[in-house]
Formats: sequence, structure tokens, C-alpha cells
Amino acid sequence: MLDSATIHPLTQIVGSENVLTGEYDLDRYSADALNPFRAYGAEDAFDRLADAVVRPESTEQVVGIVSLAADQGITLIPYGGGTGVMGGTVPIRGGVIVDLSRMNRILEINARDLTATVEAGVVLGDLEDDLAEQGLMPGHDPYSVPIATVAGAISTNGVGYRAAAYGPMGNQVVALEVVLPDGRIVATNAVPKYSSGPNLNHLFIGSEGVFGIITKATIRVFRLPETQVFTTASFDTFDQGFDAAVELTALGIRPSLLDLTEDEDSIRLHLLFEGYREGVAADEQRAKQICIQTGGQDIGPGPTMEYWRDRRQSAVRYKAEALGRPRKVRWSRWGGRNFDYLHMALPVSKVLDYRKRCDLIMAGTGIKVAEYSLWSRPELFSMMLRPDTGDGVRFRANLAEVVEQVLTLAQDMGGIMEYCHGVGVKLNHLLARELGVSHDVIRDLKQTLDPANIMNPGKLGL
Ligand SMILES: Cc1cc2nc3c(=O)[nH]c(=O)nc-3n(C[C@H](O)[C@H](O)[C@H](O)COP(=O)(O)OP(=O)(O)OC[C@H]3O[C@@H](n4cnc5c(N)ncnc54)[C@H](O)[C@@H]3O)c2cc1C
Repeated sequence: MLDSATIHPLTQIVGSENVLTGEYDLDRYSADALNPFRAYGAEDAFDRLADAVVRPESTEQVVGIVSLAADQGITLIPYGGGTGVMGGTVPIRGGVIVDLSRMNRILEINARDLTATVEAGVVLGDLEDDLAEQGLMPGHDPYSVPIATVAGAISTNGVGYRAAAYGPMGNQVVALEVVLPDGRIVATNAVPKYSSGPNLNHLFIGSEGVFGIITKATIRVFRLPETQVFTTASFDTFDQGFDAAVELTALGIRPSLLDLTEDEDSIRLHLLFEGYREGVAADEQRAKQICIQTGGQDIGPGPTMEYWRDRRQSAVRYKAEALGRPRKVRWSRWGGRNFDYLHMALPVSKVLDYRKRCDLIMAGTGIKVAEYSLWSRPELFSMMLRPDTGDGVRFRANLAEVVEQVLTLAQDMGGIMEYCHGVGVKLNHLLARELGVSHDVIRDLKQTLDPANIMNPGKLGL
């Protein structure tokens, strides 16, 4: 609990209507989209509620909040849309949630520089709408476009449907304004390339708010494509589809969408080519040839068009049923759907062997893979795991054990345990194992910038 010596100055900074301390609000802010079912071994992270929520509307107000917190040793947790799936916003040590959603102004769209400068809390979908009016679009297109914020996507380095052409969210970042844990403001320059020292943007990309609060971002934007061509190839084996994805990528063909999915019914490579007409036609033709050479069959644009059209449905449902609701509502929505979705990255040459070894781990455990997929690059390999019988609760211990083994196998084979959603509370215990000395360096940086560990403590294993 915070006493009036803290609450009062917070209300002076943001106004009393923007300091929330009621139990209902503390409950709904003290989680993201991670359900405790999937937080194997980290369930106690959900034991505490935040002590307060503050809702600043400017960088100056964020500086005021951070300076107060630094003086009083109060923990701060940056909060964007609260749609993360790893527990990055869970206040495991209590403290003050800093909700950036009022900082939602689109400050500049520059069609010549091909950049947009926005405040941290702009929802990706709102930016997309404004850009479209000027014939532009963002490069980051996750399922969660209707609900996630620009700074949340930067802080998790998320991956989206156009990542095959434009890369993950981190690749979109040109410049950042960040309030450091001591209240100083870092503002990097909006140029695409640095050689005068390291590019500090990378300290904050994928860092889950442990080094500061992003208040503003300049990101790359792109012309709306002259044309879009959808194509779908069907394969008898995942390996054939994988070979097609490897060959396409090696040849330098960059579809916007590259998604290979194997489920119980089919094995399909979904491709979307976007851009100027002649380039798209050439890429499509060559990609189709490659798919046929590796054993695929062209089954037309239909399945990929449908896939593209429906890509945001899960987020639309999440917005209607769960976003901003109390934890009980979010968690009960989970119902009997007790599955886990894992997103590993490995060198191309190891992915197929890794898949075989994962199958061996699962044999006889009651856990099966409902879906194998590649998303945007052949190195980015995902598996949806679920119990054979549908009785998820009974098999939870097996699921937890399999997940741990599958993730550590990826690390042991020279890969990483997560390419998309961050670490949060769910994967915290495995990060030092993965990073080794690099984790020591991250710890040293944290010690220098945030010696009292006020900024999202307990995340990134810090
Ligand atoms: C239905 C659904 C679909 C999804 N689809 C995708 C997908 O396709 N691709 C994908 O990558 N992810 C997806 N996600 C996960 C989620 O949307 C992403 O992780 C997203 O990037 C999080 O954005 P957010 O604004 O909600 O961040 P939050 O959940 O609020 O925060 C995420 C992390 O960033 C930190 N943070 C937030 N704002 C700031 C800030 N201003 N400064 C510093 N740190 C900050 C938080 O402390 C936390 O650690 C999906 C989630 C749902 C519920």
C-alpha cells in the first residue's frame, strides 16, 4: 500500500482522476493476457496487486512520476495495451503501474521521410487508419493490431504478418524518446543508420520496460502496395514446405507474408506478395516454381486470402471479451482451451532436426502438437501443444515438463526459447541459461542505469 506521502504528489502530477487505487482497477491492471495456467512454476507472480495506477498524458508527467519514484524507491511498471502474453506487466513486487494509453497522439506522419512519430500509447490499429489516409501503412502487422500499442510492441520486439518483408517491430524503430530510471530523457536521432557510436534504440527494443519508459517513437512506414497477390501451396510433408521457404528466402524473394502451417488437416505455405506490379509478378512466378520443385501443389489464392482476412479475429474477440476486464473474467475466458503456443528460433540447418527431437520428447507424455509452423523466416519455428485427450488440467504437469524440455532443447541446439512475445514472468527462469555472459552484461547495465531496480523489477531475470 502506498501512503498519502506518495499518492498526493502523484495526483499533483497527473490529476486525481488519473490516479487509480480502487481494488477493481488494481485487479484489472495487475495482469496482461498471460493466464496462470501457462505460467508453470511462476504462479505466485500473480499473488500481488499493484498499489496504484497512474495515467500520464505527457513526457513531462512521466518525468515527474519517475523522479518521485526514484526519490522514494517506488517500483514502476510501464503498461501499454496490457496484451502481452508473458506477464511483462504483472506487478510481481507491487508498485505503480504507469498506463501510457492517454499518450495516444500521432504527432507527425512524414510521407517523404517515410516515418511516423507517435506517442508511446498509440494503438497500432489507430496508426494504421491514419497512415492509410495518406497512402501509407506500418510494417508491423501482428494479430493484436486492434489492441496493442506502439511502445508495447517495441518493448516486446513483436512479430507480425508482414515480417517476412519488413522484419519484426524492432526493425521499424528509427528513434526513441525514453525516460530513464533517474528521470533523464534520452532522445535518439531520427536517422536510419549510426556509425557514431552504438545505436541506443537497441537498449530499449525487446527490453520489457526494465531500462526506462518509452514516451515517443519514430517508426518506419511504407507506401500502400500498388498490388497484392495471394498464393497458397499445399505439401505432403512439412519438410517439403520448409525447403520451399528456405529456397525462397535464400534467393532473396521477400513476400510480405510467409507462413507455413501443418495442422491435422493440411500442410500449407501461405504467401502474400505486395509492392509494385512488375516486382510482384516476378516474385510470384518464381515462388510458385520453387514450391512445385520442392514437391508442392499450387492450390490458388483462396486459402491465403481467407487467412489474411481473418488474421485479426482473435484480437477483435479479445477486445470485446477480455481487454481491460478484471483478471477473473480474462482467466475464465480460457475455459477448457488448455494449450500452449511456443515460438522458438534456431539456425535454419537445425530446425528440422529440432522438430524431430521435440516429437521424441513428447512421445508417451499425453501431449501432442496440434500445429507446427514457420512464421516469416525459416528460422522462426512455432508449435502449438495440447493434451491428447482435451483434459488440459489433468495433463498440466506433463505440459509444463514438456514445455521446459522443448525450450531448453532449443537453447542447447544454439537457438532461443522465444522469438515473438518476450520473457515476462513465464520464461524468466530460463533467460540467464540462454544468454550466459550476455545476461551478466544486461545486469551490469541495469545496475548502472537503475541501481535501486525501480523499473519493472523481476523481469528479464533482473
Ligand atoms: C489476441 C492476441 C493476439 C496477439 N498477437 C500477437 C502477434 O501476432 N504478434 C506478437 O508479437 N504479439 C502478439 N500478441 C501479444 C501482444 O499483443 C504483444 O506482445 C504486444 O506487442 C504487446 O503490446 P502492449 O501494448 O499490449 O504491451 P503490454 O502488454 O502493455 O506490455 C508489454 C511489455 O512492454 C512493456 N511496456 C509497455 N509499454 C511500455 C513503454 N511505453 N515503455 C517501456 N516499456 C513498455 C511492459 O512493461 C511489458 O513488459 C497477441 C496478444 C493477444 C492477446
